[in-house]
Parts: sequence; structure tokens; C-alpha cells
Amino acid sequence: MSLILTLNAGSSSIKFALYEKTLKGDPPLIVRGKVERIGTAARLVVNDSDGKRMIDISASNHREALNAILEELKDDTKGRTVAGVGHRIVHGGPDFSAPVRISEANLEAIRALSPLAPLHQPHNVSAIEAALAEFPKAMQVGIFGTAFHAGKPFTQDAYGIPRRYYEAGVRRYGFHGLSYTYIAERLEARYPALYSGRVIVAHLGNGASMCAMKGGQSIATTMGFSALDGLCMGTRPGQLDPGVLLYLLDNEGMTSAEVSKMLYKESGLKGLSENTNDMRVLLESSDVKDKEAVAYFTARIQREIGSLTAALGGLDGIVFTGGIGENSAEIRAGIANGMGWIGLELNEAANEAGGPVIGSGAVQALVIPTNEELVMARAVVERL
Ligand code: ADP
Repeated sequence: MSLILTLNAGSSSIKFALYEKTLKGDPPLIVRGKVERIGTAARLVVNDSDGKRMIDISASNHREALNAILEELKDDTKGRTVAGVGHRIVHGGPDFSAPVRISEANLEAIRALSPLAPLHQPHNVSAIEAALAEFPKAMQVGIFGTAFHAGKPFTQDAYGIPRRYYEAGVRRYGFHGLSYTYIAERLEARYPALYSGRVIVAHLGNGASMCAMKGGQSIATTMGFSALDGLCMGTRPGQLDPGVLLYLLDNEGMTSAEVSKMLYKESGLKGLSENTNDMRVLLESSDVKDKEAVAYFTARIQREIGSLTAALGGLDGIVFTGGIGENSAEIRAGIANGMGWIGLELNEAANEAGGPVIGSGAVQALVIPTNEELVMARAVVERL
């Protein structure tokens, strides 16, 4: 039987998963894991049938990280063909609205989108190049984080700046599309009434966004042109008055590189707490700044639920997913707290138990673990 590999390259990590290619149904997972802290104290984390292992490795760049992954997978791939490789690509620009087979022309177009996601797109491109070199006969498929939001109405896609910028691609793209694709599929299969209704999906991880969904379509989302907008994240600020940026550039003498570093790496939970972006640590802390960071994170989500509910014209359900959304009953309860007016109330015991059904009000509430790798593997299988 041949194999499907999925790669998800971030700024300092590559997540991977290896699947068996089957003729019918979802491909079964063989092993998944990641290389994290590329460039510093790199380590390989592997999750397979034997459990979880962590191995310190040397990987100063993404190419070396991929080599370490392939070395680890050697036993599983021996004597078998990797028939397809799925790549998560952060940005699809205005044109990529569905997964594509990577051709030379497509790769060039993906590379040309790098200015739209300078911290992520180049790593996605280097993962494709490495996989092309390693598996020249395999079909390479790009799956875009922006594609799920491609059909949004103009009012949720444009910014109120001169129109020529919209035409030039300055739009509210939105991200986390693979996660939303997976959740939409789960809703359709398990909760069809909700699927056809008005749902907010809250993908709360180190990166965080919410999507207003109707019939599996994105109507609006909290992220915009870049993955900085919307909710407070691990190290990114979320919603920010652009006047703040002008002030920092003009009055604080910061360079655009310094502002960029602050926005991507030093803000959000980490910046507000002056401690960490790790939600588990913040929730256990009694420090005032740590508590304020968590309170800000929660309050931003509550405000955006109001905003997305307006875009949907009402609300039938909310789905929590991502590392925080799936695992933290405390954050879910904090979000629901004071939102009875919108119909969001949680069953305390069900919330503590982790769901899937945790709502007790007029608005349904669910916890659904996301699976971005499976979305990639399915996209590859469909094209093989
Ligand atoms: P990424 O966006 O990097 O994929 P994840 O979806 O893995 O991130 O989410 C990482 C976040 O989830 C971290 O802030 C981590 O502290 C948080 N998290 C994981 N488990 C828990 C938990 N049990 N309680 C609270 N937060 C958690």
C-alpha cells in the first residue's frame, strides 16, 4: 500500500503526519509529530502507536528538520511509495480558493505571495522544494489556509481604504481554513441542523481566530489581511488601531522590522503578561498581569462573538477547537460567563468533561477537536 505524507511548516516548526493510502474512506494515520524549535534547541516529537517520544536533534533550518523527519519515518516508508505529499500553505492570495496540484507555475505563484505572509510563506515554499527533491515522483498538493474564506461577501472582504488597494489584493483574507474545513465537515456529518444554521467556530490555539459559518461557508472571520488581526493570541495582539503603528513608527523611532517583531513575537498573552504565551501556565498563575492577560484574551473573544453574530444575523451554535478551545474548560466557561443574553450558557459538568455537547442555553455549544492533517491527507487522496 502506498503512503500519504502531510507537512505543515511554521516559522520554527514542521508538523507532519503519515497516512496509509486507502481506496475508500479516510486514510488511516500511521504516525504524526513535529520538529519544533528549529534553529535553536530543536527536538523531534513523535506520536505513534508506542505513545509519545521526544528526541533532541540538530536542525538549524527547515531542510534539516525535514531530513530528521524522513529519517524518523524510514522504517514506515521502507519499501513503500510516498504517492502524495500535502502541504499546508498559509496564504493563497485572491486566486487560490481550493487545494491545487503543485506545478512549476503554481509554485511560482505561491512564492510570489510571500510578501503577504513573510514569516510563514517562505517556509511553506522551502518545505515544498525539499519534498519535491525527496519525492520527485509523488504528487504534491498545496492546501491553503485562506481558501475556506474565499467566498465571503464584499462587505466582509474589503477594508474602507481607496479601492485600488482592494483590487491590488489588500483584503480580509482570513486564516485557519484547514481547521474550519474540518469542523464544517464534522458539523455536516454529526450536527446537520447546526451545519445549516448560524455557527461561530472559535479556533483558539497559539494562533487564534473565529469564523462565522453558515451551511459550511465562511461569512466573516476575525483575522484579516494578515494573521495579526482579531483575537488576542499567544504572541500577536489581535485588533489594533492602525494609529498605534503610525505612532510607533513616527514618534518612538521604531523601524518596520522592530514593529513587525513586536507584533508577531512579543505581543498578545506574552506581551500583556510579561511572562509567557503558554495558556496553561497563565491559568495556574496568581500574578495580576497573568490574570489580566487571560481576562483580555477572554474579553476580546466575547466582543468578537457579538460582532460575528451580527454578521450572521443571529446565532445557533458555537464550536470550540484548537489547543485552548479543546482543552480548557476554564477558558470556555470564562467566555460563556456573562453571555447568557446571547443564549450562550454552558452545562458545567459537560464542560468540565470536555463535551462534545456542552451547551445548556438557546445557543448550542460544542467542543470538537480539529484535525488539519486529515484535511490535507483527504485533499491529496482526492487528487491522486
Ligand atoms: P498552535 O496554534 O501552535 O497549533 P495549539 O492549538 O497547539 O497551538 O494551542 C497551544 C495553546 O493551547 C497553548 O497556549 C497551550 O498552553 C494551550 N493549551 C493546551 N492544553 C491546555 C490546557 N489543558 N489548558 C489550557 N490551555 C491549554
